[in-house]
Amino acid sequence: MLSNSLIELDRAHLVHPVASYRGHEKAGVRVLKSAKGATVTDASGKQLLDGFAGLWCVNAGYGQESIVEAATQQMRELPYATGYFSLGSEPAIRLAAELADRTPGDLNHVYFTLGGSDAVDSTIRFIRYYYHCKGTPQKDQFISVEQGYHGSSTVGAGLTALPLFHAGFGLPFDWQHKIPSHYAYRNPVGNDPATIIAASVAALRAKVEELGADRVAAFYVEPIQGSGGVIVPPDGWLKAMRDTCAELDILFIADEVITGFGRTGPLFACADDGVVPDMMTTAKGLTSGYVPMGAVFMSDKIYNTIADGAGAAAIGHGYTYSAHPVSAAVGLAVLKLYEGGLLENGRKMGARLMAGLESLRDHPLVGDVRGRGMLAAIEMVVDKDKKTPLPAAAEPAKRVFDRAWDNGLVIRAFANGILGYAPPLCCTESEIDAIVERTAKTLDQTMADPDVR
Ligand code: PMP
Repeated sequence: MLSNSLIELDRAHLVHPVASYRGHEKAGVRVLKSAKGATVTDASGKQLLDGFAGLWCVNAGYGQESIVEAATQQMRELPYATGYFSLGSEPAIRLAAELADRTPGDLNHVYFTLGGSDAVDSTIRFIRYYYHCKGTPQKDQFISVEQGYHGSSTVGAGLTALPLFHAGFGLPFDWQHKIPSHYAYRNPVGNDPATIIAASVAALRAKVEELGADRVAAFYVEPIQGSGGVIVPPDGWLKAMRDTCAELDILFIADEVITGFGRTGPLFACADDGVVPDMMTTAKGLTSGYVPMGAVFMSDKIYNTIADGAGAAAIGHGYTYSAHPVSAAVGLAVLKLYEGGLLENGRKMGARLMAGLESLRDHPLVGDVRGRGMLAAIEMVVDKDKKTPLPAAAEPAKRVFDRAWDNGLVIRAFANGILGYAPPLCCTESEIDAIVERTAKTLDQTMADPDVR
């Protein structure tokens, strides 16, 4: 009863992110009621394994008492403190220092945001201001990678390279440019890693030459492309792009909103590739989704150029909720959990997940299996040789999501027939095995469905 009335209220009033509003109204909301560990329970009492950690964010898993405790205590003691007027709070300062200690290279300065989109947005403001301070404001062109995702703010959505985020929104802006993705499974240059890296480097060089090196501000990458379909670059790709940016005198921005905080193994994915970006964005796993928070990390060089350039003048960028004390207290509690065993468990479970999904490679619908750590994808095709995607008219994403749900598994089903996995790092071996088994069952059922063949 309660559930039915909630569905009606949702339909009438709640606008959902990235949804067909009419499609959603027809289908009705699925209300989640509670969660513990890697299991979520819906309003009807159905239990499901959350193979996507909410929206690749609940890295620590649900129901972690130490996080709840930290938030409660902070709310009692000081629920809010502004960072304006040179004020601050202890958890925000401590979290900034703890993180600066662990970020690559000299990314020693942290600006806290509310999530990933405004973190990306903030980088654009900081970068423009940095070049203003350097006396080269004409460096105002930005480059990102096809299939990349950099949030849903107006400027971030322009860096995002997914047509859905552009069509009808007047995006991208004419100062936002793209180079092709490294997408090995569907790359016109083939799947040889060295060839892919060389092609990406050449594409970046060509784009910078076309725009003029003195006009290009920055290049944005995700260490693994997430929302574009979990696209993993070849080993060495990130380093090659980083080095090319240094050589061309353009800033290299790593968007670690998904890959940060243990998702791929280490605290930050850049570490795997020995890369130190000029700026790095994070969110999601920073607070494990318990409360909203994102962060922009900037190098000494960028921070000091801005600070010296502005001198006594205030830098006009700030949010009411930047460095929110409750979010910061949660961030500190989450960091303790990561370092108290969750990162290690995530690495072990990530290897098990990858091996499990790899074992499905021979399934007739599986075209590709890819991932790193607890971030993985299966790309479904109807013809393995031709790599033919499942027919869009059959809405394969919706069908597969619904089927997996019925099988007790939450996954991300992308519209192009890619299944995304990002389970909480607290998963047990049997939970990982169940994710793989339920995926196999879902694939078999999809295979038997005449509409998607
Ligand atoms: N950057 C990347 C790489 C992301 O994956 C996301 C969100 N999926 C964002 C930015 C935007 O973050 P948010 O949804 O918290 O605004």
